[in-house]
Amino acid sequence: MADLGRYSRQTVFPGIGEVGQRKLLDSRVAVIGVGALGTVIAQNLARAGVGFLRLCDRDFVEGHNLQRQVLFDEADAEAGAPKAVAAQAHLAQINSGVQVEPVVADVTAENVYDLIADVDLVLDGTDNFDTRYVLNDACVKWGKPWVYSGVVASYGMTMTIRPGQSACLRCVYPEPQGAGGDTCETAGVLNGAVGVVASLASTEALKLLVGAGTVNPGLIYVDVWNNTFDQFPIARRPGCPTCDKGEYTFLEERLDQTATLCGRDAVQVRPAGAARLDLAALGGRLGHLGEVRVTPYLVRLLVDRYELTIFPDARAIIKGTSDPAVARGLYAKYIGM
Ligand SMILES: [Zn+2]
Repeated sequence: MADLGRYSRQTVFPGIGEVGQRKLLDSRVAVIGVGALGTVIAQNLARAGVGFLRLCDRDFVEGHNLQRQVLFDEADAEAGAPKAVAAQAHLAQINSGVQVEPVVADVTAENVYDLIADVDLVLDGTDNFDTRYVLNDACVKWGKPWVYSGVVASYGMTMTIRPGQSACLRCVYPEPQGAGGDTCETAGVLNGAVGVVASLASTEALKLLVGAGTVNPGLIYVDVWNNTFDQFPIARRPGCPTCDKGEYTFLEERLDQTATLCGRDAVQVRPAGAARLDLAALGGRLGHLGEVRVTPYLVRLLVDRYELTIFPDARAIIKGTSDPAVARGLYAKYIGM
């Protein structure tokens, strides 16, 4: 039996207790997106003693992340470390008793099953609805509870989705949100808003894992600048394609090869059906074109006014443009389609 001493402030709390703490230690959670929300969620869950955390993120640490992404430091930004890997390293210092598995990848219809099949629940730390619709379809289809969270500027929201029991994300937002809404690029984001929303979400995870009866039944909306905290009941929507009709359209093969990244002058290019890359060989091949840096996790090429960061799964994040066509062209030119 594990020593529960370090969790004494949780086990003395009646909602958790020793029985609940042992459940947490035996639990498995996937955190999808390890940025602002995801680092707070992952830190809270690791400190709380959730036994296994899978951290999935496609991106690397940059200096402007440090204002709110609590598991990273200046050395991570300097190294351009993948967020999932850097988060794992910091969590190992915080609680060596929990197992953390980093996954440096984009979560898509192709890989989502493998990422969620062996966990008890899924936490949304993403910054985009493309991934959330994939998560919603996957979690409803395979019966995994998941906690949606989103934050921008000074406000955010969270909703707990229990397949078969509660409304799902598509009951609230039937179709993907179009352009024109606030993003962290256009509206910024306060770290206090991130902390509040992420802490609500991580507490939902604890409730679900210990079987508490107080799970958030609707959608919570909070604005830390304007002092509002609202709770809206959300009913299941008859005709919802996902949770009523069982049409999991976001799990069908429809890979968008590019995605403009929130908060950045950058585009991700994800070639369909690509094999894994040999980073050292790629670095050698690109060496004469510009400044090249090769790490165990990525190759970075600085050429003209662009920065190309290429990962072993053949994804690239191309900085210096927000035009997908330009990004695809640069990918084809330097990496090859
Ligand atoms: Zn639904």
